[in-house]
Amino acid sequence: MAKDNIVDVIVEIPKGSSNKYEVDGITGRIILDRVLYGANFYPGEYGMIENTLDWDGDPLDVISLCTYPTLPGVQVSVRILGSIKMIDAGEIDTKLFGVFNDDPRFSDYQTLKDVPQHLKDEIENFFLQYKALQNKTVKINGWGTLEEAIEELHECKKRFIEYKDRLDKGEKDLILQEWKDKGIGQG
Ligand SMILES: [Mg+2]
Repeated sequence: MAKDNIVDVIVEIPKGSSNKYEVDGITGRIILDRVLYGANFYPGEYGMIENTLDWDGDPLDVISLCTYPTLPGVQVSVRILGSIKMIDAGEIDTKLFGVFNDDPRFSDYQTLKDVPQHLKDEIENFFLQYKALQNKTVKINGWGTLEEAIEELHECKKRFIEYKDRLDKGEKDLILQEWKDKGIGQG
C-alpha cells in the first residue's frame, strides 16, 4: 500500500495527561482548555492534523499509541490504522487512530486487526467517560476502516480550504451555527 496513511500530527495532549491542551488556531499558542473533570487520563497521544477542518470547527483529531509520552506542540509521524466514529454533544467528531511510525515497538501494528482488543476497548471507554462529570453525552458508532479514515482526512482537508478565509477572520462560531441550522455535520 502507498504510504498515504502516514501523516504528520501535532501533539496537543501527551499520553497520561488529564490536562486538555489545544493549539490555538490563530496564535499557535498551546492553551489549557480545561482539566478533565474526572480522574480520567488520555490513553494515547492526542493531537491534530494541521490544515484540516472537522464538523466541530476544529482540526481533525488523532489519537495514537506510543510508548513514552512526548510534549504538547511536538510533531510526530503517525501511521493511521483506522478511525473512531464519535459523536460529541450532537456534533460529528471523528478521531483518526494510529501508532507512532517511528517507534519500533509498534512496527507489527500495520492494520486495526493487529491492535490488541483491550487497547481499543480502553480508548473507546475513555472517550465514552471523559465528559461524564460535565453531563455531556458522547456516542461512539464503532471503529472505521483505514479507507474510511483516509476518506475522512481528505474531506477535512477540502473543508479547510473551503473555509480557511472565514476561519482566519475568526468566524468559527458563525460557521458552526450555519452547519447546525442546515443540519449538516450533526450526529
Ligand atoms: Mg474534534
